[in-house]
Amino acid sequence: MKKVFVKSYGCQMNVYDAERMADALAAKGYVEARTAEDADLVILNTCHIREKAAEKVYSELGRLREMKKERATEGRQTQVVVAGCVAQAEGGEIVRRAPVVDLVVGPQSYHRLPELLAEASARPGVVDTEFPAEEKFDHLPAPAREKIRARGVSAFLTVQEGCDKFCTFCVVPYTRGAEVSRPVAKILAEAERLAGAGVREITVIGQNVNAYHGEGPDGRDWTLGMLLERLAEVPGLARLRYTTSHPRDMDETLIAAHRDLPALMPYLHLPVQAGSDAILAAMNRRHTGDEYRRIIDAVRKARPDIALSSDFIVGFPGESDADFEATMRLVADIGFASAYSFKYSPRPGTPAAEMEGQVPEPVKAERLARLQAALDEDRRAFNAATVGRTVDVLIERPGRHAGQLAGKSPYLQAVQLETEGLTVGDIVPVEIVGTAPNSLFGRLAAGPPEERASAA
Ligand code: SAM
Ligand code: SF4
Repeated sequence: MKKVFVKSYGCQMNVYDAERMADALAAKGYVEARTAEDADLVILNTCHIREKAAEKVYSELGRLREMKKERATEGRQTQVVVAGCVAQAEGGEIVRRAPVVDLVVGPQSYHRLPELLAEASARPGVVDTEFPAEEKFDHLPAPAREKIRARGVSAFLTVQEGCDKFCTFCVVPYTRGAEVSRPVAKILAEAERLAGAGVREITVIGQNVNAYHGEGPDGRDWTLGMLLERLAEVPGLARLRYTTSHPRDMDETLIAAHRDLPALMPYLHLPVQAGSDAILAAMNRRHTGDEYRRIIDAVRKARPDIALSSDFIVGFPGESDADFEATMRLVADIGFASAYSFKYSPRPGTPAAEMEGQVPEPVKAERLARLQAALDEDRRAFNAATVGRTVDVLIERPGRHAGQLAGKSPYLQAVQLETEGLTVGDIVPVEIVGTAPNSLFGRLAAGPPEERASAA
């Protein structure tokens, strides 16, 4: 029996893809290993979004080269695969730079993985970065029930891939290709299979998930709001989330879904990147700071308790002190519950990498520190405001200590509680009694959460 280890870098799309690769290989008899050392086949599922992410792959390949060499002296074979966005972006260059690699496979060819591996064992150095015409999802085998269960009660489901937005800093449109939405019927079948195996929460994912426009059962294109409404009817599914969205695609059906669907969790990750209109225009984001504020107002009107999250880039080419202050103002105006923030990283082949006015590293570092301090303060304030409230918690796994359970609040906060008689998958009212840097502490509450009580 052969063993495979998939190491994923980057976004949730890669987590989902890693599971699909494992499923494709399970159909050929591979079992999953917990470490590279324990595996015959090691797949690095890579991320190309920033330079650091891409460089990590080459240092890991250096380590695997040593491992492969050592094993060869014992007569044991190891296959090394590079998948994901670095594979797509760099293709054959990877094999030239790191001959340890047997196969380079882009994100659109995972359904061909078993046959490509067979090809690579006869002739190492195979590269497949095509965007084939066939839908890879139609060819990827469904996971077994036990496997779904082992992966937990919270699952990702890809509904859309690729991006047509071409933000000037971003590699995604080049590595993941044009926007493609899966038909509603296929998504429903996958959601029903997941729920049937015990999954309670699905996060529908896509590089630009709210640009979703898949074919509905009525033959028309459905929006993400319409899709979520249908998913909310799947028996057993209690919670829905979606990520990652673009402000331009926050349409009325999606905002209405936040108002009307109790299963849609009150959490929205809506990347804004910057607060200055000049920088937003140079980034080709196609909205202004005030337009973003108005979208947030509409979402908050639909769901007043919604927790907001975002992505930020500091030090985009041409960003002046005044531009950066506009970002700080936007942060102060909105009050994010959580956020990701990055220094601008020039990516080869993207328009911003060629722009004048590249910002020096120390300036980027200083701006990032200021921004992160403000975002951190807002996050702590949001968490502190949960203390004393009762919220529903989905129990996801045993906690770190004996007798402890770990779960998630509706606002995507990690919650630890000590109690007996609960099982993974339960959703229970929990009174939040304290905070730690990365999680909340709670105890089982006597009554339901306030908002549920008042709705009743
Ligand atoms: N589709 C999402 C959107 O519209 O914002 C973002 C997808 S991207 C995988 C995740 C985040 O990485 C972006 O929101 C952005 O903040 C960051 N990012 C992308 N390219 C970057 C770059 N060249 N340098 C720094 N951060 C970058
Ligand atoms: Fe990249 Fe998101 Fe812009 Fe698409 S919308 S180009 S994925 S940042």
